[in-house]
Amino acid sequence: MIDTTLDDGFHNVLGIVRHLGQSLLRPAGLEADRSGDPIPVDHPVFATFNQMGFTLGGMGMGKNASGANGEPSRANRTAILAAEELAYWDQGATMSLPGPGLGAPPIRLLGTDDQKQRFLIDPFKDPTKPAWGAYATTEAAAGSDVARIRTTATQDGDDYIINGNKMFITNGARASWVVVFATVDPTLGRAGQRPFVIEKGTPGFTVGRIEKKMGLTASETATLFFEDCRVPAANMLGTGKGKSGFKAAMATFDITRPMVAAMGVGIGRCAWDRAAEIAGAAFSGTPHELKLLDRLADARRRLDAARLLCWHAAWKMDCRMDNTIDASMSKVYAPAAALYATQVAMDVAGLAGVRNDGLIEKCFRDVKVFDIFEGTGEVQRIVLARRLFGYPRDRPPAAVATA
Ligand SMILES: Cc1cc2nc3c(=O)[nH]c(=O)nc-3n(C[C@H](O)[C@H](O)[C@H](O)COP(=O)(O)OP(=O)(O)OC[C@H]3O[C@@H](n4cnc5c(N)ncnc54)[C@H](O)[C@@H]3O)c2cc1C
Repeated sequence: MIDTTLDDGFHNVLGIVRHLGQSLLRPAGLEADRSGDPIPVDHPVFATFNQMGFTLGGMGMGKNASGANGEPSRANRTAILAAEELAYWDQGATMSLPGPGLGAPPIRLLGTDDQKQRFLIDPFKDPTKPAWGAYATTEAAAGSDVARIRTTATQDGDDYIINGNKMFITNGARASWVVVFATVDPTLGRAGQRPFVIEKGTPGFTVGRIEKKMGLTASETATLFFEDCRVPAANMLGTGKGKSGFKAAMATFDITRPMVAAMGVGIGRCAWDRAAEIAGAAFSGTPHELKLLDRLADARRRLDAARLLCWHAAWKMDCRMDNTIDASMSKVYAPAAALYATQVAMDVAGLAGVRNDGLIEKCFRDVKVFDIFEGTGEVQRIVLARRLFGYPRDRPPAAVATA
């Protein structure tokens, strides 16, 4: 039976995260949004978080997490709670925080002890030096369809030579290393894919454009180039574990999709709270206003339902149960609920909603991408069709990012 109560431990985490979000992330995120550029690496907000030892991706999530005294782990539920609350204050700023980020799950899942030490511990242990990791699968012709990756890894003695480009990579320019998915044999499709940890400064690894985006401005999104980039075989993840890079990429989705869904809920809740505040101060109960309030209540129902789906997916992961269906359900539902909440909030706020010095229009711009990354809404529908009903039945599985 799923337990949805928040005990003191969870409340403590929420309290800390709320304080950090309100005092540090919201101001830094608004500053970046107004300037149009990501938060610079030397911004004091990073030094502050780093000194506290707060790193994104630092929490021991996943099915291997274990709780005390044989109890289920709390790591995945803690991550969900923190993700929603941080996003409430500013998701762009949260994504830019130091830490291994999305690069952590594949290393944790497939890395050797030596690789975990080299990539998850050593770069992040100096409290005076904020450091980042990144995760790169996306290419111009391989977004949802990750089997179409064209970046190649060609073995040469004890090394691999990487050639190809990656785009839309979060923290890609500032990262000390990037987990890069490449294929050792394009004719093998998914089975040929392998993740490599490529360190900054490796000859042949260069950074291109930093994207200008409609939302999440505080977060850096970079294009990466690999040209005859020589990487030691010791940097390949998953050797000897019988898991292809594709399977590794898919397995991390069960961890990250509910988190990304929860971030959407956080942004939707931020817009909702602001709209409720505006309605409370300005509405007098005209029929038109009551209709708006009914829509606002509907938005709240959807947000609350979305939150429960996220919690359920995380709870199953904490109990080491298969959660692929739950992770996809949360990911298809929550971003849509959150987008709806920001739209209704705009309507409630009227002109105040579209002014770019207000929070609501920023939430509206920030939330759209939650239906795109970590598997689009359409991709989640495919995952669910396959898992719930065994579709498609009449042809080989589509090559999209489905687990
Ligand atoms: C802010 C931001 C940060 C990102 N960070 C990272 C990162 O750190 N690392 C990384 O690797 N990538 C990252 N991405 C890339 C992201 O994962 C991709 O944008 C995403 O996978 C979708 O790929 P695409 O944009 O190529 O869209 P496409 O896959 O081309 O999809 C376009 C449209 O077609 C639909 N579609 C696609 N396939 C199907 C199908 N089979 N059936 C039905 N409909 C379909 C999709 O739902 C979508 O609506 C980031 C993107 C953004 C915007």
